[in-house]
Amino acid sequence: MKFVNSYKEKIKKYNEKHHLTYHIDTMGCSMNENDSNKYAGILESMGFEREDDEKKANLILFNTCCIRENAEKTLFGRIGALKRQKLKNKDVYIAVVGCMTQQKHIIEKIKESYRFVDIVLGTSCMSLFPEKVYESIIQNNSKIEYIDVSNNLEEEVPIKYEDQYRASVSIIYGCNNFCSYCIVPYVRGRERSREKEAILADIKKLAKAGYKEITLLGQNVNSYGNDLKEKYTFPMLLKDIEAIDGIEIIKFISPHPKDFKEDLIEVIKSSKKIARQIHLPLQSGSTKILKEMNRKYTKDEFLEIVKKLKEADESISISTDIIVGFPGETEEDFMETLDVVKKVQFNQIYMFIYSKRNGTKAASMQDDTLPQEKVKRLQRLKKFHEEQISNNNRKMIGQVYQVLVEGKSKTNETLYTGRTSQNKIVIFEASDKEIGKIKNIKIESDHLWYLKGKIE
Ligand code: SF4
Repeated sequence: MKFVNSYKEKIKKYNEKHHLTYHIDTMGCSMNENDSNKYAGILESMGFEREDDEKKANLILFNTCCIRENAEKTLFGRIGALKRQKLKNKDVYIAVVGCMTQQKHIIEKIKESYRFVDIVLGTSCMSLFPEKVYESIIQNNSKIEYIDVSNNLEEEVPIKYEDQYRASVSIIYGCNNFCSYCIVPYVRGRERSREKEAILADIKKLAKAGYKEITLLGQNVNSYGNDLKEKYTFPMLLKDIEAIDGIEIIKFISPHPKDFKEDLIEVIKSSKKIARQIHLPLQSGSTKILKEMNRKYTKDEFLEIVKKLKEADESISISTDIIVGFPGETEEDFMETLDVVKKVQFNQIYMFIYSKRNGTKAASMQDDTLPQEKVKRLQRLKKFHEEQISNNNRKMIGQVYQVLVEGKSKTNETLYTGRTSQNKIVIFEASDKEIGKIKNIKIESDHLWYLKGKIE
């Protein structure tokens, strides 16, 4: 479905006089960040200007996530804090969008206790956003209602990237996997792959505009194409993107280990552009727990994929997600996870304590592990991982890596920053004219989460 904004001109005209600003607060994953870029694109096409300070903005948009249990508390705390700002200024509008508002109980809570909220939209509802803005701001008549269009696929949505050289492109929406702990299939709907022509057209446009690095997004990128009429798979898409002039680095998040097949490994092996860092979510190293999680692979199968990736190119590094303290996880199960961490030497682990989400299968599983024990396991994993990182970083000293110069370092304005193909952050001396270029950097010293280097 093509995105049409029939309210654009009316709101733009209103903004010529009122100069309304917007501020977006994004919670959660890269898919949400990408959606926020689209909301920014829609708002700017309607004449809104970006405002970094939430307190000064007219339209404050919360793009929500519901992966963790405490996210709801955080969101409602944030909205509650805006009530005074809203009551003091009639030109303040609050919008809540994203995964959380795909749930009926959240809409009811907003209607009951946060009636000053102006706009509420679930996922895949962007085509309705301009209308909602029009109703709230111009007609002063906002309606909070539950709208379920989670199986929509919207094309040609305006998008505003914050970075000049790196952009993300969604290739597939939704998920069919129903991992037992995960709420995503319930709030993002079933898998919908975008047509290859639409994806390739977007990437060609980005290449023409000077973007060098593309990250392909999806809840499960490597099941891309399963629902398309013509046979067109994720590896085929990667090959087509490789052929686009101007794009120099290709990344993707997240692939599912169960769908990580030989043809994908072959494409990675022969590619000159696919980053040598693959995110492969493990979740648990225990085959028993993986079964309870409905992940559809075993510990050995996961290790086999890693082995094949390393055989394809030994410079490939792997990052992962791990859930600690899933219902029924014993000390032995946790040791299995540590065993995988030891064997794979992940270069980054996004680690979480299991968070119960109502409506999922795992929510009704018996969970006998004490919360303190779960915290201890997380700390043990963190310590183990950090020791590995330090050892591996030390081995990088003296080596030369290709790095896309992203811009000035946020922590040290006199230095510049970029990432190796293995996704290691490197800081170094450079100048503005090097931004957007790929440079050879020799690593000179290491710190836990970044390296220091020198342009060769
Ligand atoms: S693959 Fe599993 S964890 Fe990932 S979004 Fe789908 S259900 Fe959730």
